[in-house]
Amino acid sequence: MRIRLDGVTKRFGAVTAVDGLTLDLEPGRLVALLGPSGCGKSTTLYMLAGVLRPTAGDIYFDDVRVNDVPPQRRNVGMVFQSYALYPHMTVFENIAFPLRMQKLPEGEIRRRVREMAELVQVDALLDRRPEQLSGGQQQRVALARALVKRPALLLLDEPLSNLDAQLRQAMRAEIRRIQRELGVTAVLVTHDQTEAMTIADWVVLMNAGRCVAQGTPYELYQTPPNRFTASFIGHPPMNWLQGRVSGTRLQVDGLPVYLPLPAAARDGEVEIGIRPHHVQLVAPGKGHLDGVVTMVELLGHEKLVTVEAGRGAGAPAVAPAAPDQGAVPGQGPAAGAGDGLRLQALVPADA
Ligand code: ATP
Repeated sequence: MRIRLDGVTKRFGAVTAVDGLTLDLEPGRLVALLGPSGCGKSTTLYMLAGVLRPTAGDIYFDDVRVNDVPPQRRNVGMVFQSYALYPHMTVFENIAFPLRMQKLPEGEIRRRVREMAELVQVDALLDRRPEQLSGGQQQRVALARALVKRPALLLLDEPLSNLDAQLRQAMRAEIRRIQRELGVTAVLVTHDQTEAMTIADWVVLMNAGRCVAQGTPYELYQTPPNRFTASFIGHPPMNWLQGRVSGTRLQVDGLPVYLPLPAAARDGEVEIGIRPHHVQLVAPGKGHLDGVVTMVELLGHEKLVTVEAGRGAGAPAVAPAAPDQGAVPGQGPAAGAGDGLRLQALVPADA
């Protein structure tokens, strides 16, 4: 199902939670609504579910305006952070519940519950109650209950945030597999950029009730259209250095930086965004940006080295290093931003 939002705004008294949001989401995609806490992701999801009504603007499902369509008539399945299973019912009855509400014949209910339980791999647990299940199993049951009516749209509100890191990763892959197998359009809310990047076909990045960028995860990472996107997406986060444009030259601390300047670049101060994995740590020397190591974090396969780079070059820069590379706080090597590195230059919006 195609989802369109046209200038959708939601106000709660003086608070504007969603501010003129316009989106066109293609059928069959898994879309992540990503952004910091309070940016309006859940409010957007609840407007899609029909639980909240927009203050202004229109929502269309396949060209049908649904602003006035109540939740139960929207053909939408929803999974919550808290799972929200019925504690006194077995897994079977939890999954069967939406079909019972539709008053389907018992035989069909049994068939569809079993089919869905197999898909989400809880078919061996049908007689248990929610309290007898692990968090991951409860989440699978919640997913089955949301999908058993074969909804045209699946809404997921931070569905993985109650799971530990390893289980979260496994469930991410599961949600993806199930969503693909059914071909259902899905919208997932998350504040975790790694989650959005690994699960979604399309990411809508929100801030203060607005969409600040949208695209495939790869596009948002490689060609962020603005500073907010560049900072929010990528882990460890983007390094920012203070640079200077003069004519066709770009310099950081008097050192030339070789990269194409955006057409809009004018002479003056700019910020240069550079991904940590595009920075190399080298021994101090000519043509390198000097710095002092201030922090070393061992991750196992590599370490992340924070360097206070250059005189007036800006904020500290983070660079990866081999676990055995000698970088010790207070002495360490220089951060080299040399020839051939792929740098990303972003000029301030008002430049
Ligand atoms: P989080 O990740 O913390 O859940 P979010 O991006 O989902 O955040 P929303 O829950 O959509 O954000 O909230 C957006 C803004 O609207 C916030 O400032 C929030 O305080 C406000 N808000 C949400 N619901 C209500 C409400 N019922 N009454 C008043 N303000 C609300």
